Amino acid sequence: MEAPLIDPFARAISYLRVSVTDRCDFRCLYCMSENMTFLPKAELLTLEELDRLCTAFVGMGVEKLRITGGEPLVRRGIMTFFRAMSRHLESGALRELTLTTNGSQLRKYAQELADCGVKRINVSLDTLDAAKFAEVTRWGRLAQVLDGIAAAKEAGLKVKINVVALKGFNEDELFDLAAWCARDGHDLTFIEVMPMGDMGEEHRLDQYWSLKDLRARLAERFTLIDLADRTGGPARYVRLAETGQRIGFITPLTHNFCESCNRVRLTCTGELYMCLGQEDVADLRAPLRASTEDALLKQSIRNAIARKPKGHDFDYSRQNVAGQMTRHMSHTGG
Ligand code: SAM
Repeated sequence: MEAPLIDPFARAISYLRVSVTDRCDFRCLYCMSENMTFLPKAELLTLEELDRLCTAFVGMGVEKLRITGGEPLVRRGIMTFFRAMSRHLESGALRELTLTTNGSQLRKYAQELADCGVKRINVSLDTLDAAKFAEVTRWGRLAQVLDGIAAAKEAGLKVKINVVALKGFNEDELFDLAAWCARDGHDLTFIEVMPMGDMGEEHRLDQYWSLKDLRARLAERFTLIDLADRTGGPARYVRLAETGQRIGFITPLTHNFCESCNRVRLTCTGELYMCLGQEDVADLRAPLRASTEDALLKQSIRNAIARKPKGHDFDYSRQNVAGQMTRHMSHTGG
């Protein structure tokens, strides 16, 4: 048994978020520009390399793997990777294998995901209006996503819907979204929008809607009971007394969860981010490719974790970089 990964502040690293691709079949306004330049294939970790890396982390105490992207389900051969990871669930080393998806490919993959031991998934969905959905995702079709969510449910997967709160866009759908989730048995979490993607340029969706405000709106209709539930992450939860529904809030810009931070994030090129709000990054691809043995890789992981900072103050000025959200942050559903 290997020594677990413990950072300098005695936090055990048990949660790894892995981006398996930078590509996506949607172009959400707040996330990507319409003409994205994606990474050349040689830069990306192969599925075998992703397996080796994740397996190394699992061997060192990671119990929860969240697969994300880009859109994870558009990566060619991705089910090979899920099948490979399911062996860690079977051995008991991994407690949870999950993913965050835009839902477009769920009709195709939900059953196979369930067969691999995936129990819960996060699906990002900002509106239930087909025209607005087409607008915000640029390339997405609502019907396909709703069908994907239905497929997930049929396969027995528990679905959490992640909604980015956008003033003037889905403000008027707050109660409809909540009611739809309650009726279909989905959990619901709102995410505060971060200034990324094309929002600033297009001025169409640049209205920041604070979750404080959203919460106050909910409180006009429901009695909100604050819950103590923590998932080791940034979400805070309330229960609506009248319906029993649980609703989460993720405010990426706050940092009051650092003390319990158990997570690190790996990009599709093998960079390990130890903290959302700090740029410090460790390259794991070089040690991975330098040797077929894992000793060097594992030492590089330990060296990186030894640099995990105590916490962060979010610096807005650094967020002016255009481009993909996933390259810059990890605290949202993704
Ligand atoms: N393609 C997958 C999906 O749609 O969930 C995974 C990657 S996506 C980048 C992960 C999450 O980040 C989604 O819930 C998305 O809505 C959210 N996100 C993207 N850009 C954001 C922004 N500027 N502010 C807040 N959340 C954002």
